[in-house]
Amino acid sequence: MAELEAVKDRMVAEVDRLADVLLEASHSIHEHPELAFEEHHAHDVLTGILEGEGLDVERSAYGLKTGFAARAGSSGPTIAVLCEYDALPVIGHACGHNVIGTAGLGAGLAAAALAEEAGGRVLILGTPAEEGGGGKVFMAEQGALEGVDAAMMVHPAGADLRSMNAIAIQQCHVRYEGKAAHAAAAPHKGRNALDAAVLGYMNIAALRQHIKPDERIHGIFTDSGDAANVVPATAGAIWYVRSPKLRKLDALKQRVLDCLEAGTKAAGCTMTYEWKDPAYADLVDLEPFDDLYVENAARLGRTVHDHRSIPGIVGSTDMGNVSYLVPSIHPMIQVSPPHVAIHTEDFVQYARGPEGDAAVLDGAKALALTVADLWLRDGALDAVKAAFAGADRRS
Ligand SMILES: [Zn+2]
Ligand SMILES: [Zn+2]
Repeated sequence: MAELEAVKDRMVAEVDRLADVLLEASHSIHEHPELAFEEHHAHDVLTGILEGEGLDVERSAYGLKTGFAARAGSSGPTIAVLCEYDALPVIGHACGHNVIGTAGLGAGLAAAALAEEAGGRVLILGTPAEEGGGGKVFMAEQGALEGVDAAMMVHPAGADLRSMNAIAIQQCHVRYEGKAAHAAAAPHKGRNALDAAVLGYMNIAALRQHIKPDERIHGIFTDSGDAANVVPATAGAIWYVRSPKLRKLDALKQRVLDCLEAGTKAAGCTMTYEWKDPAYADLVDLEPFDDLYVENAARLGRTVHDHRSIPGIVGSTDMGNVSYLVPSIHPMIQVSPPHVAIHTEDFVQYARGPEGDAAVLDGAKALALTVADLWLRDGALDAVKAAFAGADRRS
């Protein structure tokens, strides 16, 4: 069996060999921001490179037009490296998924080059629509994670962190129906759908004082009538409901619905709602798996801090759902100063600047080295699996 350190050295050299290609791809994806499920340019760039390196690629894999899968190795444990590449409306690559996609690509290719020799298998998965679409969930439902022993990705951020403070989330889309009337001549004949929405909003504002400190509820009105002199017959709202664990979400969702329905009743209107699937699960952290990444990042000169030492919640990710199904890591890699947060316009520039480029290469290396550990290091995969078996992932 191949010697671990030799395999790791060659993986690092492999990422260095691919550096120009990876960075060109990162910049190209950055310059063509594409929304969830429409990432055709990114899909073609990434699959083109995989094919150019001699891998068999399944385009539009697992039921998603912009998903893909490529495999290497014929025996041993299967480690999945996940690539995200969708952008945000208006502000483009403010979450830096160009870095995720190309770091994952580099890691996958470096692992693929050593797979036969090291006796391991790697699966490179292109997973669309992280920003609200839940691409990983749909691909997993189609069997993308079958036979996978562990999964990994790396996300850019303002710091190097073991994992992400990610909590569960589900969206609720609400429609209100009232009755139109002249707002001055015959208001008594109307039933105000906007009132229903506003009263629901106010009820939730009161509810917020009495939820757990790490739960979040936030919403917008999407429709509030057409003319100020007409009692609005329709209104609409979107709410995001977040809780630390997936299984705690249901109780909070019911409290939110009670608030919305009370407002609707008070206004004499009716409402319909839809909880948008999939809900995103919280991230299940596995200490031994995170430790491997931290150690490999240190080898590259990166000090990775404990995400639990940083107060606050970063958000939610469909990698949480993956972490419920197979042992997973979702470390964060620094591309911006700590005060520049993801999902801001300032972050966009860092995602394709020198720091973003360094993160593509270091991220690719750190993930590849972690694949090598799972393949070859005595007891490493067993420890990860034991931690997964004992983890709190009851949904
Ligand atoms: Zn992101
Ligand atoms: Zn994001």
